[in-house]
Amino acid sequence: MPEKELTVADLSESGLLARIFPRLESSSSVLLGPGDDAAVVAAPDGRAVVSIDTQTQDQDFRLHWNNGYRSTGYDVGWKSAAQNLSDINAMGGTATSLVVSLTMPGETPVSWVEDFADGLTAGIAGLGAPDCSVAGGDLGRGREIAVTVAVVGTLHGREPVLRSGAQPGDTLALAGTLGRAAAGLALLESSVPLESLTPEQRALVDSQCRPVPPLAAGPLAAAAGATAMMDVSDGLMRDGGRLAKASGVDLDLDPIALKAQANALEAAASLLDADPMDWVLGGGEDHGLLAAFPAGILLPEPFTAIGSVRAAAGAGRGVVRIAGESAETVGWDHFAD
Ligand SMILES: [Mg+2]
Repeated sequence: MPEKELTVADLSESGLLARIFPRLESSSSVLLGPGDDAAVVAAPDGRAVVSIDTQTQDQDFRLHWNNGYRSTGYDVGWKSAAQNLSDINAMGGTATSLVVSLTMPGETPVSWVEDFADGLTAGIAGLGAPDCSVAGGDLGRGREIAVTVAVVGTLHGREPVLRSGAQPGDTLALAGTLGRAAAGLALLESSVPLESLTPEQRALVDSQCRPVPPLAAGPLAAAAGATAMMDVSDGLMRDGGRLAKASGVDLDLDPIALKAQANALEAAASLLDADPMDWVLGGGEDHGLLAAFPAGILLPEPFTAIGSVRAAAGAGRGVVRIAGESAETVGWDHFAD
């Protein structure tokens, strides 16, 4: 008879924590880590930049996808780290610590939780946040798995880069990719079996489950004088609209730059009979950076120009156009705030 899998309900909270702690790294910015009632973290320039994000089972991820893929604890841990590190990146900062709350049903395998801790640790290290670690957290019971991560970071003595500073005439630039995570999500939700995917299509699934935001790019953009920045987590049109509205400008996207992003998704799109431009314009979760830079400055690597900032045509509504045309005119009709 196979041995019964050890579940969270079989262990006390301290027993479960004893399984998690050895899987976490330490960093110099966490002055007092897990084990006390609260952690102590450094604020090197006297300020802390802070954000928080929640992922809930069946809302933000599935344990069992339609195409046969199973989201592992590692995936969920990695993605939790990536989303939060990206929000600090988007301010021009660097993450220094995470505080993690994990709620789950008693029947969750202990191995899933260990895998989750491994994914968090690997995400922090693999995405390039070397002086960042888990400062503390909380474990609880719930009907489904929910992960809330709060992140603290440093601004390196610079001002934060806000959404509201873009000026008419600025160059609009992107670091990272557009639409890959959305293409991966479409594959996960399709009936095309996982085993039949090409390595390139499988890499799109990975982009959804373990996104790789360009973490060095945020501080580089801030140092280079970016006037406005945000990460693209809800799609280029929606997030671009938010940046435009906050800055009181319009954005004009370059169709050639968008087409280059769409071309990389062509094989998956034809497999699913989808339009890759829908993923490029509407797909979030790649966590690329959208930034505005004063015209004429050399864009810092890995940013490339994808358009320009224009004076607002109508009462600062924040309109995003493609080659001067509204998105609807060019055949993209999913625009909504
Ligand atoms: Mg964000």
